[in-house]
Amino acid sequence: MMKIVSYDLIVIGSGPGGYSAAIRAGQFGLKTALIEKQAKLGGTCLLVGCIPTKSLLHTADVWEHFLNPEADGIHAENARLEYPKVKDRKDGIVNKHSNGVAMLLKRAKVERITGYATLKGGGKVEVKSDSGVQTLEAKNIIIATGSEARMLPGLEPDPDYILTNIEILDLNAVPKSLIIIGAGAVGVEFASIFKRFGTDVTVVEMLPRIVPVEDEDISKELERNFKKQKIRVETGAKAENIQKTATGVKLTLTTKDGKQETLEAEKLLIAVGRKPNTDNIGIENTKVKLDRGFIVVDQNQMTGEPGVYAIGDVVAGTPQLAHVATREGMIAVAHMAGKPAVPINKNRIPGCTYTQPGIGSVGLTEAQAREKGYKVKVGRFPFAGDSRATILGHHEGFIKVVADETHGEILGVHVIGPEGFELIGEAVAAMEAEATVDVMMQTIHAHPTLYEAMGEAFNAVYGLSINA
Ligand SMILES: Cc1cc2nc3c(=O)[nH]c(=O)nc-3n(C[C@H](O)[C@H](O)[C@H](O)COP(=O)(O)OP(=O)(O)OC[C@H]3O[C@@H](n4cnc5c(N)ncnc54)[C@H](O)[C@@H]3O)c2cc1C
Repeated sequence: MMKIVSYDLIVIGSGPGGYSAAIRAGQFGLKTALIEKQAKLGGTCLLVGCIPTKSLLHTADVWEHFLNPEADGIHAENARLEYPKVKDRKDGIVNKHSNGVAMLLKRAKVERITGYATLKGGGKVEVKSDSGVQTLEAKNIIIATGSEARMLPGLEPDPDYILTNIEILDLNAVPKSLIIIGAGAVGVEFASIFKRFGTDVTVVEMLPRIVPVEDEDISKELERNFKKQKIRVETGAKAENIQKTATGVKLTLTTKDGKQETLEAEKLLIAVGRKPNTDNIGIENTKVKLDRGFIVVDQNQMTGEPGVYAIGDVVAGTPQLAHVATREGMIAVAHMAGKPAVPINKNRIPGCTYTQPGIGSVGLTEAQAREKGYKVKVGRFPFAGDSRATILGHHEGFIKVVADETHGEILGVHVIGPEGFELIGEAVAAMEAEATVDVMMQTIHAHPTLYEAMGEAFNAVYGLSINA
């Protein structure tokens, strides 16, 4: 009989949750194996999510400057976008970082195993690969199998016309027209990319507003900006009867006032959320509990099966974000290694959307704070009052601070504007350090910077901002 190899920890999945957890385990001296079914490491985030989209968004930002350079006194004649090269750059970045993950795992002495993992119960994991089937065992297991795009009923992804995040990132040319169903972060980021590359973009959202998890004012501002950029936005709308045509796709749109219209486009992107990868991984062989397909965990990320943890997009109750996956990995590994583990605080998770204008937010929205009964006071500062924003040519948007009047507690901060996704970092640190509005008002913000607007927004809570 073949001897079963034993580990302190087996991690299933090499996304930002899994690979970070494996490295941390290596740092703590745990004998660790990481199992990944794909040839490349990095998961959704690195291969077909966060990183490739941000590469394209960066190119869209650069291209935008070439399209309107006159305001800066620059004349750029015959500027043209060579999309295959844009794609090569994106792929180069992805490959560089995927190789980087391999190098980091090696340095942390993590054993990398390529194959499909299935939980067998009792600390055992079966791995199927081209070279056969092997069984491994471990004191601890982390499920970090991530998620995949949800499809609409009856539809299958198709590289020619019905796309998910995977197929759209693999296009070889900029489509002439694109309908996007779903206006969460993924949908609006692709709208922001392709509109600026010249595509005629329509965004269809069933809910009453785009980026629906954000503060209502943020949704309104993004919609206003999108419309200004001539992105068609249909909220409270339904897309049905999706069919392939000779040139692409057509569907029936029912708008919020009940009018029906046929929409046609070269491509259709389905961006209606992500399904956790918890099917066919052997959950039934364990005591792991599911809630609508997501894994239920305790504050240490432990599942119903002792020694089996879950992190990242498969977890019930935390947002599907790369930095959440990573943090949850740190908590799980600290717990199994007997080190201090601070549970994740859902109220201090930054959410970022890298559109133009960009969004960054943390904590409660104004509506949530009012619902919870706080004595809400709001400070708001527009980027129009920030000289750095004007210099950059992007003075759209604002920063909104939601605070409690009683003790000056910062309940939430919401940014939409230039580099909004970077600026939110200060607010996250302030909330983590339990700084009050008063502390942030005294904090010196360098001039001229975009983050000066953050200082002004905190002052605005007491009606004391200077430049607006
Ligand atoms: C287009 C897009 C853009 C995004 N942008 C951002 C962003 O800007 N910022 C952000 O925070 N989040 C972003 N996200 C979300 C982010 O990608 C996910 O939250 C993150 O990847 C979750 O990490 P994870 O480790 O849980 O799983 P994943 O990254 O999904 O990785 C899971 C890994 O497990 C492997 N696996 C699955 N099952 C098995 C098995 N049985 N055996 C072996 N291996 C298996 C998979 O192949 C995969 O490599 C984006 C997502 C998309 C789709």
